[in-house]
Amino acid sequence: MDTTKHQGQRQHLIEVLKEKGIFDANVLHAIANVPRHEFLDSSFEEFAYRDVAFPIRAKQTISQPYTVAFQSQSLGLSRGAKVLEIGTGSGYQAAVLVEMGLKVFSIERQKDLFDFSKNILMKLGYNITQKFGDGYKGIPSYAPFDGIIVTAAAPDVPTDLLEQLSPDGSLIIPMGEPDNDQVMKRIKKSTISEGYEEEDLGSFRFVPMLKDIDSGDGF
Ligand code: SAH
Repeated sequence: MDTTKHQGQRQHLIEVLKEKGIFDANVLHAIANVPRHEFLDSSFEEFAYRDVAFPIRAKQTISQPYTVAFQSQSLGLSRGAKVLEIGTGSGYQAAVLVEMGLKVFSIERQKDLFDFSKNILMKLGYNITQKFGDGYKGIPSYAPFDGIIVTAAAPDVPTDLLEQLSPDGSLIIPMGEPDNDQVMKRIKKSTISEGYEEEDLGSFRFVPMLKDIDSGDGF
């Protein structure tokens, strides 16, 4: 249940995010609307609106609200645009993207997280096309996407994802090894040459993006 106490805590969180440099009104509005406590284990409920990451099932984490806001803002998308998320996890980031007015697709490789997020997103009324499978492959049948957001640390750029970007689209991806901080990159198709332009957006820490799964294709 979403109470006025939760709503008040979210307003406080919005102020914290603004102080940390989040300026996109659509992103702030989305975070003010998504009941983050519903995506956490109930023992963490009282901490749900602090700006910290938390463990979820299957040794994964729900990203820190600042990180969710930062990646969402970095997409630079307007309402109605199409976005693909890699690493559904709890489903929280996907819900924020829906509240931003985006058409959302999301892939998760762990079955219990896929099931958990599907259930909670449906319960809260968030309409997301979810796929159980390997995020490295994207979803060619729904491409192109105006933006792709990867919420796990990638050791290299997944080329299939680049190929699924629309001409103006960008890939927001934390690049680097899992035990260190990663560099958040924005990768866009170049307007002046064949190939891509990369921009460094800052330093973050994510759980690893993993390969080699036996998930089947589920789609
Ligand atoms: N966006 C999530 C946070 C995800 S943590 C949220 O808002 O809660 C990173 C997630 O990426 C984990 O759930 C992990 O299982 C998933 N993941 C890692 N490698 C993946 C891959 N190759 N394809 C799809 N999902 C992957």
